[in-house]
Amino acid sequence: MTRAYNFCAGPAAIPEPVLQKAKEELLNWGEIGASIMEMSHRSEAFLQIAADAEQDLRDVMHIPDNYKVLFLQGGASTQFATIPMNLLRGKSSADYVRTGIWSNKAVGQAESFCKVNLAADTMDKGYNYIPEFESWNLDPDAAYLHYAPNETIGGVEFNFVPETGDVPIVADMSSNILSRPVDVSQFGIIYAGAQKNIGPSGITIVIVRDDLLGNALPITPATFDYKVQADNDSLYNTPPTFAWYMTGLVFKWLKEQGGPEAMAVVNERKAKKLYAAIDKTEFYLNDVKADCRSWMNIPFQLHDKGMDDVFVSEAGEEGLLNLNGWRTVGGMRASIYNAVPEAAVDALVAFMDEFEKKHG
Ligand SMILES: *Cc1c(COP(=O)(O)O)cnc(C)c1O
Repeated sequence: MTRAYNFCAGPAAIPEPVLQKAKEELLNWGEIGASIMEMSHRSEAFLQIAADAEQDLRDVMHIPDNYKVLFLQGGASTQFATIPMNLLRGKSSADYVRTGIWSNKAVGQAESFCKVNLAADTMDKGYNYIPEFESWNLDPDAAYLHYAPNETIGGVEFNFVPETGDVPIVADMSSNILSRPVDVSQFGIIYAGAQKNIGPSGITIVIVRDDLLGNALPITPATFDYKVQADNDSLYNTPPTFAWYMTGLVFKWLKEQGGPEAMAVVNERKAKKLYAAIDKTEFYLNDVKADCRSWMNIPFQLHDKGMDDVFVSEAGEEGLLNLNGWRTVGGMRASIYNAVPEAAVDALVAFMDEFEKKHG
């Protein structure tokens, strides 16, 4: 059996060596005579896996000691609500930047907990650019500023980190965490669902600065309280142990590759190749402003929209999977996360050429 090239937005491709390792260890992890999936989350074996995963993530992201790393459940969407629950700290409003469908969902959840000040908003302009930072309407009394550095659906990625003084920055990095280096100390919270650029679905990484812990609203359930989770090493209740184990394998793989610094070089090259193929003729189109085109999620349209299904199905026959756009957006989207090899992009570019010759 040969594995196809998988451009799925999420759950997304996982590095093949990681899948191989998991396969080898599936029935009998570390000679304990059982699968890690079948072990207590309080067992010595699992505690070691959990600690190693955290340390490896700390190493590759250079996470400072005054940050906790939490491994939680509920996906990034749950964070849309748990962030205001944990971070309002007696304040009544928060700043949000709305640059796409995901940050808009975050706004929707926050509105149940506080006043939302839209510091910048591109909703009525089609979510295809990032407003210049100088034009943002920041509230100095905001509890925090929330934004999504990479909008997975629109394919819009920030090329800067906002500067907000004492107002902590909360970043939904679900689709670009570990794709390039970031300076963690610029953020109050970084969070990401694992299923885009890390591992399988079911686990969510939350990196939170110590001083932001311990102020959850009284209504906050214990499992959603970052302080409770931090005090319990994310083992307050049973975590998704197998997903945690898989993310640990991915962090080890990433370390061997040279970490986000090395991934960034490859990711930039992959993205440039694909944008060049799109821009070459009028046959394909991507209307995201050039300075904020995503390296991870590249949506594109066909000149003739009626051909979308033909493109997706002919690509599938060539072993290029999951190129359909988001369910309500249509068109095509290629997600080219860390685990998608450069050869996959080369194959896609070659297919796009062929497709245009045949149908253009
Ligand atoms: C996929 C995604 C989400 C939603 O993640 P879930 O884990 O399904 O809740 C949120 N934000 C961004 C940027 C995403 O890409």
